[in-house]
Amino acid sequence: MVQENRIVKNFLEMVKISSPSKNEREIGDYLINVLKELGLEVTEDNAGKINGGNCGNIIGVLKADGKKKYLFSAHMDTVVPCEKINPIVENGIIKSDGTSVLGGDDKGGIAAIIEMLQVIKENKLDHPEIVVVFSMAEEIGLLGSKAFEIEKYSIDYGFILDSSGKPGKIITKAPSAARGKLTIVGKPAHAGISPENGINALTVAAHAITKIKLGRVDAETTSNIGVVSGGQATNIVMPTVELDYEARSLSNEKLNLLLEETFEVFEKVCKEFGATFENKVNVEYPGFALDDNENIVKIVMDACKSIGLKGETASSGGGSDTNIYNSKGIPSVNLAVGMTKVHTLEEYIEIKDLVDLSRMLVEIIKG
Ligand SMILES: [Zn+2]
Repeated sequence: MVQENRIVKNFLEMVKISSPSKNEREIGDYLINVLKELGLEVTEDNAGKINGGNCGNIIGVLKADGKKKYLFSAHMDTVVPCEKINPIVENGIIKSDGTSVLGGDDKGGIAAIIEMLQVIKENKLDHPEIVVVFSMAEEIGLLGSKAFEIEKYSIDYGFILDSSGKPGKIITKAPSAARGKLTIVGKPAHAGISPENGINALTVAAHAITKIKLGRVDAETTSNIGVVSGGQATNIVMPTVELDYEARSLSNEKLNLLLEETFEVFEKVCKEFGATFENKVNVEYPGFALDDNENIVKIVMDACKSIGLKGETASSGGGSDTNIYNSKGIPSVNLAVGMTKVHTLEEYIEIKDLVDLSRMLVEIIKG
């Protein structure tokens, strides 16, 4: 059924096509052809236009009237350096030549989806309605999935293939995250002649910082000030200070509450000192948390079991397209692809993992 040689050939072909975020045109065209040859109805949406990229999300539909609708998705863009990728196959592993990333994140996911479609076609397998989405610009803020009009497809379950770790790991929880600058604007003055005419922005920040929650807020929530920048010279009362802030939580409510509290403290302290507070912190993506006994988790667990893999749910520290689809009301999980040391020059993937993942997908559609 699943053919290792074919998966490896497709994977190598795809990683050699350079596809940094917003420059997915070439891989997009390649995938349009592949999906058409496999008998899917293929469209491209306007996510590229909306986000200033040269390629939209590539969407393929394999109809099955009256059946459940499953989304399978992986992203087309890779992080840099990916100008020229020379994959090396060695001892069951595919790695880069050390001058670039490999791009297994996320072409490993794409390769497994293509193999699943091949197997369905060759064996004329019964299948749910399958909606394949190869998304653009995931790595720079989930731009493709945010723009994708998923509501047009009435999806029942979403299977996103974009996690590191061995196949069998099922991400069912991921945090929501907020990030941005907190700026305090005080007032400059000569520090030696008339300090009383100035408002030191750092002093204001220091007062505020002692009153906010930083570090581990609770088991599900964290926050941090990672960069502080401000000041011009020792003889000038510091007029402005910028704090680069982030907060994450597995609970959207907790994150919102934390942000509210934090902003309130800064507003209040700034007012006390006569400074002004500028807030450029935004929620970048919402989190999600699926229960272990949700149907979609059961479907993946059963698929793992039938090919002898140990299925295991886990939570992630970061965001993926999975966050966006869950926030749009589609129960979705992020499945581990086997990609290792992603976003580094040492990135690699085991061929066995690509094969296992493809087999798992075939079991998922067999239901
Ligand atoms: Zn990824």
